[in-house]
Amino acid sequence: MATTKNSKSRTTPMMAQFMEIKAANMDCLLFYRMGDFYELFFEDAETASRALGITLTTRGSHMGKPIPMCGVPVRAADDYLQKLIKAGFKIAVCEQMEDPSEAKKRGHKAVVRRDVVRLVTPGTLTEENLLDNRRNNFLTALCRGRRRTVPAGAKGGRGKDGPGAGAVGGSGENIALASLDISTGDFEICQFGISDLAGELIRLAPSEIIISDREDSGEEGQGLLAIANQIGAVLSPQPAIAFDARSGQTALKKHLKVEALEGFGHFSPLELAAVAALLRYVELTQIDRFPVLGVPKRRSDKGEMVIDAATRINLELLSSLKGERRYSLLGALDLTMTGAGSRELAARLSAPLMEVPVIEQRLDAVDYLLGDHGLRDDLRRQLKTAPDMARAMARLSVGRGGPRDLGLVLKGLLLAGSIVASLRQSQTRNIGLPDLLEKIVQRLGALDESLLDQLSRALVDELPVLAREGGFVREGYRPELDELRRLRDESRQIMAALQAEYAEETGIRNLKIKYNNVLGYFIEVTAINGDRLLQAPFSEKYVHRQTLSNAVRFVTEQLSKAEQKITTAGERALAIELELFAQLSRAVLEAERTIGEAARALARLDVYCALSQLAEDCNLVRPQVDDSLAFAIEGGRHLVVEQALAKDHQGPFIENDCVLEEGEDDLRRGRLWVLTGPNMAGKSTFLRQNALIVIMAQAGCFVPAQKAHIGLVNRLFSRVGASDDLARGRSTFMVEMVETAGILNQADERSLVILDEIGRGTATFDGLSIAWATIEHLHEINRSRALFATHYHELTALADGLERAANVTVSVKEWKDEIIFMHKVVFGMADRSYGIQVARLAGLPEKVIIRAREVLGLLEQADDRKKPGDLVEELPLFAASRPPGGRNHEGENILEQTIEKLHLDEMSPREALEVLYDLKDLMKNRG
Ligand code: ATP
Repeated sequence: MATTKNSKSRTTPMMAQFMEIKAANMDCLLFYRMGDFYELFFEDAETASRALGITLTTRGSHMGKPIPMCGVPVRAADDYLQKLIKAGFKIAVCEQMEDPSEAKKRGHKAVVRRDVVRLVTPGTLTEENLLDNRRNNFLTALCRGRRRTVPAGAKGGRGKDGPGAGAVGGSGENIALASLDISTGDFEICQFGISDLAGELIRLAPSEIIISDREDSGEEGQGLLAIANQIGAVLSPQPAIAFDARSGQTALKKHLKVEALEGFGHFSPLELAAVAALLRYVELTQIDRFPVLGVPKRRSDKGEMVIDAATRINLELLSSLKGERRYSLLGALDLTMTGAGSRELAARLSAPLMEVPVIEQRLDAVDYLLGDHGLRDDLRRQLKTAPDMARAMARLSVGRGGPRDLGLVLKGLLLAGSIVASLRQSQTRNIGLPDLLEKIVQRLGALDESLLDQLSRALVDELPVLAREGGFVREGYRPELDELRRLRDESRQIMAALQAEYAEETGIRNLKIKYNNVLGYFIEVTAINGDRLLQAPFSEKYVHRQTLSNAVRFVTEQLSKAEQKITTAGERALAIELELFAQLSRAVLEAERTIGEAARALARLDVYCALSQLAEDCNLVRPQVDDSLAFAIEGGRHLVVEQALAKDHQGPFIENDCVLEEGEDDLRRGRLWVLTGPNMAGKSTFLRQNALIVIMAQAGCFVPAQKAHIGLVNRLFSRVGASDDLARGRSTFMVEMVETAGILNQADERSLVILDEIGRGTATFDGLSIAWATIEHLHEINRSRALFATHYHELTALADGLERAANVTVSVKEWKDEIIFMHKVVFGMADRSYGIQVARLAGLPEKVIIRAREVLGLLEQADDRKKPGDLVEELPLFAASRPPGGRNHEGENILEQTIEKLHLDEMSPREALEVLYDLKDLMKNRG
C-alpha cells in the first residue's frame, strides 16, 4: 500500500493517515472512524464485507485502482464486532480524537486527528453484549520452560510427566499459565508439568492464548493449535522478548499497586514470564487504560484434583461432547441466579478440591441453607436482582463504562446491605453461621457506606447508557448544575416564545425555529414565505442563511444570542455532569478491592443457595469426604441421565452401588471392578456417574446417592468413548493408547480410574491382550480405585484370580428373544453381549440380523484351531445361503431356535397364544 506520486491518483491526506495507522496494526482489521461510521478499506474491506455479508463499495483510487471500502454504523458496531470476533478476527478501533471543526482551524485540507484507542480481540472483551454472562472470558499467556526440580514423589501433585501423556511437547518441561478475565478482574497464575497442559487449558477455556512467536511453528505449535481449536480459542503469537520474568515482576507490582509481591505468594520465574507477556498484551490492546486486576489466585499443586483433558471432555463437565451446556454436569447442577454465580460454580466443578477442611466448610454452608430454607428462598429472591458488579467495574476501569454501570454498583451495594441483614437475622435464629457464610457477611459488611451514600445521592433512578447523553445526576446534588439546567430549560422556553413572536410579527403562521449541527438554531419558512422575509421591512432583521428547494432559512441577532445562552448553559451542564461521572467512577474504582471481594462473596452465596436448592429438588445427600482411601457410594445416580429420562417420561433412573473396597461385608469385594454387561445396559452411565459424584463431592456439592463416603481422589482419569485426533495425526486407536499410557504412567493409589472398553479399536486378540495387561498393571502397580468396563468376557476370569478385583455386571432379562434392560449392577459376569439384539433394536435390516445370528452361532461352536478360511467354507456367503423360492433356512433356523427356547410348562395359555401369533408373523415376514 505504498503511496504514489501519480497525480491522477495522488494519495489524499486522509488515505495517507489511514495507511500510517494500518501499517502499525497489520494483524487487525482497522475500523477507521468517519463521522457516524467505522469504515474499512482495501483488503480489510474485502475481508469484512465477506465475513459480515455487507456491501462492498469503493472510495477514491489508489495507484490507479478504486479503493475497496465498506462500513458499519457506529451505533450498531457491537453487533458487527461480535461477528468478527467470533470468526477469529482482531479489530483495531480508530477514533476521531478531535472535533472536525478543530481540524478545520488548521486549514481546509487538514485531516481530523485519529488514533487507535483499543484493539478488540477475543480475550479482551468487556462489552455486555459481546460476552456470555455465565462464562468467564480468559486471556491466557503460556510460557514453557525446562523443569528445575521434579516434585518429590509427585504424589497427588502435578508435574509428573509420562511418555505420550497426551500433552504437547516432550517431558522434563514445565508450563506456566497467567490468565486474566478483563471483564471481571479474575486473575490466576499456575505452573505444572507439560503433561497437564491440555487439561488446564480445557479447565480455563480461554478465548485467546498468548504464546511466544517461537512456539508458533513446528510440532509444539501444531499441538497447541489443536487444543486451541478444540476449545475455540485463538492463538496470539507475541515476540519472545515479551516473556521476561523481570518485567513481569515490575508490571505485577505496578498493577497490583504494591512494593513487594511476597504477600501474594511465591512466583516462579516461569510464572512471572507468563505474567509479563499477559500484562504487556493487555496494555497493548487497551492502549492507555488498564483494567481492574483482581488478587492473583495461585493454583497450588496439592490443593486441587488433577483432571486431564480427555477426562474433562469425556465426562462432559461444563459442556456436552456436542458443545452444549444443557446436557453437561454444569447444566444439570446450575440453579444459580446470577451470571457471576454461574461462573463461580463452573470454576468449582472444573477444580475439585484436595483439602478436606475446605470441602467440609463448603458442605456446611450448603447444609445450613438446606436447614433454613426460609433464608435460602429470601436470599435467592434477592440474588435474582443482583447486578454483575464485577463486569460493571471492569467496564468503568477501561473507560467503557457509563452511568448505568455506576447504577449497577450502587444496586450491588444496596443489595449487599439487605443480604447482610437477612443473614444476621438467620444467625440470631440459629445461633451462629457456618464459617463461609460468616466470611460472606464480613466481605459484604466491609463495603464503604459513604460510597453508597454518595452514589445514591448523585444518581437519578432511570440512568442513560452513555455519560455524554447527560441527565444522570440527581437534582439537588450540585446546585451549580441545577442552576445551569434551569437556565438551559428556561432558554428553551425563550426559544418557543421567540418562535411565537416571529410568527406574529411576520404573519407567517407556520414559521418554525429549528436546529441542526451546521447552522445551529435558525428560522425556517416555506419558499413562498421566504420571498417575503427577503424584502423590506423584514430583510433588515431576518438575515438569510440558506435556500433549499422548498424552504428558506434565516437567523436574527436575537436568535443567535438566545442560542448562545442555551448552548453555553447546556454545554456547561454536560461538562459538569461528565466531571461528576469521572469523579464517581474514580471513587468506585478506588474501592475496587472491597467491591471486587463483595462481588465474589455474592457469587459464592449464590452458589451455596443454588446447591442447597438442588440438593432439595433432586434428593442429594451430603457426602463424607476424608483422607482415607474409601470409596463407597450407595444408591448412586447420574443426574444428567436422570433428568433426561424424566424429561422424556422414560421411567425412573435405577440407583446403583459402587463400593471399591475390600472387606468383610458382601458389598466390599475389591478396589478394581471389571464390569461386563450387554450393550445399552448402562455400563458407561454407571462409570461416569461415579466419577461425577467424586467431582461433585470434592467441589463441595451434595451428591446424587443414598450415601457416599469418598477418600480424597488426587487424580481422576476417565477413558470413556473413543474419538480420533486427526489434526494431530492420531487415529482413534492411537488416541486411546496415548490416553491409556497417560493413565498407567500417572495413576496411583489415591487416583480413581475409569476405563471403558480399552482395546476395542484393534484386532480381537491384540485388544484383549492389551486390556488384560492394563488390568493387571492397574491392580498390581497403580493400585488405584478403578472401574473397567469391557465386552471381553474372557477378562472376568482374570478378575477372579486377582486379589483386589471383583466382577460385576449389569443385569438384563430376556423375553421372547427380546432383552429387557434392568440397569442394575450386581456381582457376577455377563454371559454374552446381546449385541445382535441391540442391533435389532437399532433398526438394522432383518436380513442382516438373521445372518449375524447364523455367523455368531457358527463362530461360537467353531473349534478355536480353525482358520477363518475354514469358517467361510462352512458359512456360505449371504446371497448363496438363500435358497431360491422364498423360504430360507435362516427363517427356519430362527423358528427352531425360538420354539426350542419356549418353557411351555411355565407359560399361561394367553402367553402361549401370543407366541403363536408372533411365530406366524415371523413366517409371514420371511416369505
Ligand atoms: P454400550 O456397551 O452399548 O456402550 P452401555 O452399557 O455403556 O452401552 P449406556 O450408554 O450407559 O449403556 O446406557 C444406555 C442407556 O440406558 C442410557 O442412555 C440411559 O437411557 C439408560 N440407562 C443407563 N443406566 C440407567 C439407569 N441406571 N437407570 C435407567 N436408565 C439407564
